[in-house]
Amino acid sequence: MSRIAYVNGRFAPKMQAVVHIEDRGYQLADAVYEVWALFDGKLADPEGHFARLERSLSELRIPMPMSRAALTTVLRETVRRNRIREGLVYLQVSRGVARRDHAFPATPVPPAVVVTVSRVDRAATEARAAAGVSVVTTPENRWGRCDIKTVGLLPNALAKQKAREAGAAEAWFVDDLGFVTEGASSNAWIVDGDGVLRTRDTNANILRGVTRLSLLDVAREAGLKVEERPFTPDEAVAAKEAFITGAGTLVLPVVAIDGRNVGDGKVGPVAMRLRRLYIERAKATAI
Ligand code: PLP
Repeated sequence: MSRIAYVNGRFAPKMQAVVHIEDRGYQLADAVYEVWALFDGKLADPEGHFARLERSLSELRIPMPMSRAALTTVLRETVRRNRIREGLVYLQVSRGVARRDHAFPATPVPPAVVVTVSRVDRAATEARAAAGVSVVTTPENRWGRCDIKTVGLLPNALAKQKAREAGAAEAWFVDDLGFVTEGASSNAWIVDGDGVLRTRDTNANILRGVTRLSLLDVAREAGLKVEERPFTPDEAVAAKEAFITGAGTLVLPVVAIDGRNVGDGKVGPVAMRLRRLYIERAKATAI
């Protein structure tokens, strides 16, 4: 029997139920979810799940897509159409569909809602429970793998939004030790007081920016002293120059951090020279 899904106000056979490719859940993991156990066609622990849903949504500043009562009706109707009594009900609410941009859509869009229901074989799960299961341990690394260019970009999206609300172009993450790791969608650099070009080393939990890597080469070829060494926001403010790199920004001078001028608050010559050299090289080697 074909399963029925609820997607943004419509019920459709699961195989034909689709979300927009620019859904922020798909693009940025900018979404939350809940799962209810279904016993005899009824949602278990409703209060706990609705309360957590509302909390998760409010933490991300996504509005409840509809009232609890309306949502309960949608969940129940999806269950009914699937004719499932014992199972799981899955709800996902994303911030909605908008042109891809880390920051929230400037004009708010309605949250996108998906509901699916799956059947659970109670006899099988009871047998499993009776036998018991084993577990393995794994390092707690949620999410210490910023080296992977994953679409799990929710922290980046939240950071970018913070930047936007402060009238800034980028947010720099600062680690527990007080050092800048990287930007929400770029790598971070300074030209320190001694004229040394510094950017975070890749042993840190950062994305290995391709522009960063090329620019390290470009800078060395240009005779600059380069160190992959951490710096603090204070050091960045006291530096001669700062800039960010990325395929989108290329080499982009940074003139202020948290409202404080970097150096004299003007675009510096080193960043602009590196920008020019990087673009020249990128154009010459593009395929
Ligand atoms: N760091 C993060 C978190 C990014 O998302 C990006 C690019 O999107 C970068 C760094 C820069 O990487 P690249 O130079 O490969 O574009």
